[in-house]
Amino acid sequence: MNFSVRIDPVSGRRYMAVDEKGEHVLTYPLVNKSTAFSQHEREELDLHGLLPPGVSTIEHQLARVYGSFKLKRTAIEQYMHLTALQDRNETLFYRLLQEHIDEMMPVVYTPVVGEACQRYSHIYRRHRGLYISYEQRDRIPDLLRNYGRDRVAVIVVTDGERILGLGDQGVGGMGIPIGKLCLYTLCAGVSPHATLPITLDVGTDNEDRLADPLYMGLRHERIRGERYQEFVDAFVEAVSEVFPEAVLQWEDFHKGNAIRQLDRFRDKICSFNDDIQGTAGVVLAGIYSALRITGQPMRDQRVLFAGAGAAAHGIASLLVTALVEDGLSREEAVARIYTVDSRGLVTTDRPNLEDFKAAHARDAKELEGWELATPGQATLLEAVSNARPTMILGTSGTPGTFDEPVVRAMAEVNEQPIVFPLSNPTSQAECHPEDAIRWSGGRAILATGSPFEPVTWEGGVHRIGQGNNAFIFPGVGLGLTVARARKVTDEMFLDAAKALAAQVTEEDLAQRAVFPSLDRIRDCSLAVACATIRRAVDQGHADPDILNGLEETVRGAMWTPEYLPVRYEP
Ligand code: NAD
Repeated sequence: MNFSVRIDPVSGRRYMAVDEKGEHVLTYPLVNKSTAFSQHEREELDLHGLLPPGVSTIEHQLARVYGSFKLKRTAIEQYMHLTALQDRNETLFYRLLQEHIDEMMPVVYTPVVGEACQRYSHIYRRHRGLYISYEQRDRIPDLLRNYGRDRVAVIVVTDGERILGLGDQGVGGMGIPIGKLCLYTLCAGVSPHATLPITLDVGTDNEDRLADPLYMGLRHERIRGERYQEFVDAFVEAVSEVFPEAVLQWEDFHKGNAIRQLDRFRDKICSFNDDIQGTAGVVLAGIYSALRITGQPMRDQRVLFAGAGAAAHGIASLLVTALVEDGLSREEAVARIYTVDSRGLVTTDRPNLEDFKAAHARDAKELEGWELATPGQATLLEAVSNARPTMILGTSGTPGTFDEPVVRAMAEVNEQPIVFPLSNPTSQAECHPEDAIRWSGGRAILATGSPFEPVTWEGGVHRIGQGNNAFIFPGVGLGLTVARARKVTDEMFLDAAKALAAQVTEEDLAQRAVFPSLDRIRDCSLAVACATIRRAVDQGHADPDILNGLEETVRGAMWTPEYLPVRYEP
């Protein structure tokens, strides 16, 4: 069955045209309205008898699906319930998510999607997106065409090697691109008609998956090295050929591959990596908001990272861009950044430093003047006492990294220390916000990666802002597709961060929250999309005509989960 959204020439209203009748209409989740088909539509589409006679409103249907959601006892059952709804009726699915965003986002994305990826081969029910396996490497364009869509706006692709904090999940990693694209639609109104989740299957090194008789991916260890890169190159070439206008988002690749693919393709296609650039954008937005509380300029900041992985790499390079923009030379900006990994402060004298660690390694000579228990080696606490950072950013994935001495030391060297325990999920956060508030005498400004309850301190409420990437990547993606941008740059993420920080209200700041609440996310995405487009035009990566009536254009492009009339037009 073919279907498309059309405009009625007389009324000017949108409707969905389908070229088949009967049961087919009920099996396409982007078309199906189920019991909400009107009597007139049932007549025209031969649906009488296939549905109970009473016509439901979408509100009735919402009450029904939310009621059955509430009957599910475990998170994975809730996930499966929502997936089944998405596969039956996407409009209702997104409407349910929109109405209960705080409750639903952790189910369709982190943390529950992690469990879904681990159990993917056991809970699989229905196809969605594309699986491109290494064995099919010579016919990738054919596979992309099998998706059956003329236009794809956003592709999210993973190779399943570093799924959240859960490592290699092989083909089960597909839960991530599906979940991420769901957030594109929910948070920024990117039409679900135009999204494409993809898993590149190059095998898995996960022994449990390989030993599982139900595992659905290729049953060999991962293809690596040149053969891997040739496969990824062939994939990118095929995407450019079949979906030349698509934005390509790299997702949950192992950090070395993530950085390599980003660098390899950033000037060739419109692509970005959310783990690196989206994270950087959202954290920078939190920093800009925190500086609204402290009243300090960006150029005066000194930043200490606990964790020197992919997330730190992305945040550090965007911070350098932000510091340079605020008046520092590149050299001065780089000198404001310190990184500590599991072995202590990263210094230039370490053997075999990976590229991204080397970029922010401190000159070993600098430590000569520091007070240290072991000369030449600084712990996180010693780095705080000696480097006197204005903020510490936790990207270590290790709980307890921001312990009492570290937070107290931050509070000693700063009137209002900025302390961001960003690691996910909740159990991995570097500290509990409540502890950091207590240890700093209520002075720390916090933002986390996972949601936390508000903290009451001396009669005041501290709402803990969540640096959720969903505040950035869906809006950036929307902006890129609306403007048909040709390239993604770091400066776009810088402006996206500023636009998001500007969405933080005085009321939010009064509660010391550096991010807006999730229920405002669509407005935030609109602002982020417009900022992305303005910068794209400014840098010559999009056509300037888009700036006329920009906000209206972007708002008009945002899909909303509402039923359209369905008509039979063979
Ligand atoms: P990664 O594996 O690439 O890097 C982790 C780094 O932490 C490594 O350099 C490791 O040496 C270091 N480390 C481990 N234990 C440490 C300790 N005790 N002290 C100091 N450093 C330590 O992982 P990543 O992709 O960079 O992600 C790191 C964390 O950041 C994850 O928990 C992830 O959930 C979080 N993250 C948050 C957001 C967000 O808040 N929006 C986005 C992306 C990632």
